[in-house]
Amino acid sequence: MSRRGEHDVIVVGAGPVGAALALALAADGFDVAVVEAQPPRPAAREAELDLRVVALAPDAIALLQDLGAWPLPFPERVGSYRRMEVWDATGPGRARFDAAERGEAALGRIVENRHLQHALWTALAGRARVLCPAEAADLDDGDATAALTLADGTRLRARVLVAAEGAESPLRARLGIGFAGRDYGQRAVVAHVATERPHEDTAWQRFLPGGPLAFLPLGDGRSSIVWSLPDAEAARVLALDDAAFCCALGAAFDFRLGPITAAGPRAAFPLRLRRADRYVAGRCVLVGDAAHVVHPLAGQGVNLGLRDVACLRRVLAEARARGSDIGAAHVLRRYERERRSENALAAWTFDAIERVFASTAMPLVLARGLGLEAAGRIGPLRRALAAAAAGHL
Ligand SMILES: Cc1cc2nc3c(=O)[nH]c(=O)nc-3n(C[C@H](O)[C@H](O)[C@H](O)COP(=O)(O)OP(=O)(O)OC[C@H]3O[C@@H](n4cnc5c(N)ncnc54)[C@H](O)[C@@H]3O)c2cc1C
Repeated sequence: MSRRGEHDVIVVGAGPVGAALALALAADGFDVAVVEAQPPRPAAREAELDLRVVALAPDAIALLQDLGAWPLPFPERVGSYRRMEVWDATGPGRARFDAAERGEAALGRIVENRHLQHALWTALAGRARVLCPAEAADLDDGDATAALTLADGTRLRARVLVAAEGAESPLRARLGIGFAGRDYGQRAVVAHVATERPHEDTAWQRFLPGGPLAFLPLGDGRSSIVWSLPDAEAARVLALDDAAFCCALGAAFDFRLGPITAAGPRAAFPLRLRRADRYVAGRCVLVGDAAHVVHPLAGQGVNLGLRDVACLRRVLAEARARGSDIGAAHVLRRYERERRSENALAAWTFDAIERVFASTAMPLVLARGLGLEAAGRIGPLRRALAAAAAGHL
């Protein structure tokens, strides 16, 4: 590792995407520095489940395995979904997808954000220079290297600088990269709830006119809900006492798993669609939520970010093997071309689904009902959708 503050790559932001990228590049022999503002929260077997969980697709898990960050600590806390069931609250449509259709054991796993980050940071220890807590204060994107000055005055240089600081990325703003999209006017209310009947290792999603309601199976038998609601409605639901919340949630879910028998703490997150105009500026490159923010209805945010990681890792390794400068414009643009189009397609698809299911216009209600029924009945279409559900979009 460099002593003079010169590295191959600096990754700013070590959430799940930045930490996975740093680990992947370090594993490939690059000299990596990581700058993270907040130390990760500790992981403990006895602790209450993290309110923030994510559904990881099989390709994301394969990457984590390759990086030595899977299995996560305390695997008994990891949920697994073999099936996915999607239905329309205002129309006739219903579709089911099964991992067996793809010859796989599961469509995905439900993991706690805290434990995912913990596993990545544990694997990272000793493999990269980690500066935490630390924040970037100034950036100078030069011809041969990018120079980063931290708030405490530390200066770092690298051939590639990666912004992985999430949706609010200050580096993206400093680079003058636009980040446009639309606000859904919705919040996702999240909580862990117990239901009268077991979750059947199934990820359930009911499309309501106000937004989708998902129940994701947790390892402890409860379900983690992601309930997308118009802003005012979300505020009302957050303020309900537990009994009233359980009643409202059970009704919104059509009591698919019987009454809700208990609910833990709740939180809400504003929902937005955002896409960066460019992923590359000089020697700087965006990954994860710094580059794209999608509606959580398909649970794909981290999964898309981990595909950014896999792509950038491959592009940089190939450039090095050819003897090219890893921060050269043509190298970073290759990453941008591949990932920007795939992420745009995913964002567009989730946005279209949200719009189609939010409509109460009768022709659209009937059309989406037919669409969902067809998706459930026509073998090849069902298999294609099961693949999409498993992250192979
Ligand atoms: C309700 C909800 C449910 C979701 N469910 C799913 C799901 O099921 N599956 C899925 O794949 N995705 C899901 N997502 C999306 C997922 O949470 C995000 O896509 C993911 O967290 C993005 O990871 P990231 O590492 O890019 O950014 P972040 O997780 O935002 O991490 C950014 C990191 O950068 C650090 N940082 C920020 N600024 C600075 C700075 N200036 N200097 C240094 N460090 C900095 C932060 O401390 C943080 O550690 C969901 C999102 C929501 C809102």
